[in-house]
Amino acid sequence: MRKGVRVWLVGAGPGDPELLTLKAARLLASADVVVHDHLVAPEILARLPRRATRVYAGKQRGRHTMTQGEINRLLISLARQGKRIVRLKGGDPFIFGRGGEEALALARAGIAFGVVPGITAATGVAAAVGIPLTHRAIAQACVLVTGSRRKGDADLDWEGLARAGQTIVVYMGLAGLERVSRELVAHGLSPRTPAAIIQQGTTASQRVVAGTLAGLPRLAAAAHLRAPTLIVIGKVVRLRRVLGRFVPAPPPNPARGPRS
Ligand code: SAH
Repeated sequence: MRKGVRVWLVGAGPGDPELLTLKAARLLASADVVVHDHLVAPEILARLPRRATRVYAGKQRGRHTMTQGEINRLLISLARQGKRIVRLKGGDPFIFGRGGEEALALARAGIAFGVVPGITAATGVAAAVGIPLTHRAIAQACVLVTGSRRKGDADLDWEGLARAGQTIVVYMGLAGLERVSRELVAHGLSPRTPAAIIQQGTTASQRVVAGTLAGLPRLAAAAHLRAPTLIVIGKVVRLRRVLGRFVPAPPPNPARGPRS
């Protein structure tokens, strides 16, 4: 590890271990402790070096094993013990991963840290299923939003989201899909806008349910999808009909069952 840096906030990508960056793989190989959360795919955990101690920090929807404050304090105390720590997070640490909160806590504690970007679910999963998130003629913008709402959270800017020529990617959106669909239609998006929800993209458990914005909640409920799932809304989703036939299947994972 680079001299001085005690904690690396590392993005693990969406699941396929080959989507780890070389830098992530190198840091994992020399870590003393790997603190990971639920989102990090078993395919990736299976490849961690045996010498590293693993700490599961939880973060499954509705089942927080450690609070964010506890995770922050753990990282700080491990760093003070002089350990080489990798804080491994699904996707990219700075996109809906609370990596920003952890970075701030480390900064406030005066602990040197580094951030290794990862392939975020939007780009990784879209590529795996044949959906270009932008296309010159179809979508000139792509917006990433969280569908998860806690009491007191500001509502999404539905009007802004319903703008033409824009692809919407919703993270943590399964539980709120019905509402997302209803609000976007109420704010002007056609109910026939193509939309898809992808379960456990880039892994052997990948599944895609595609339809229209208005029809997707019913299709998703009938499919009994498992987390994590990503929702993509916009005309680009239609391109999957052609491109989806050419994308290779995700790598098999015979050693492990799907994530619960
Ligand atoms: N930092 C992560 C996102 C954390 S929020 C990133 O950059 O990807 C967790 C959400 O990410 C999940 O609820 C889901 O919406 C999305 N997600 C992450 N990995 C995914 C995958 N392999 N397939 C589908 N969605 C995924």
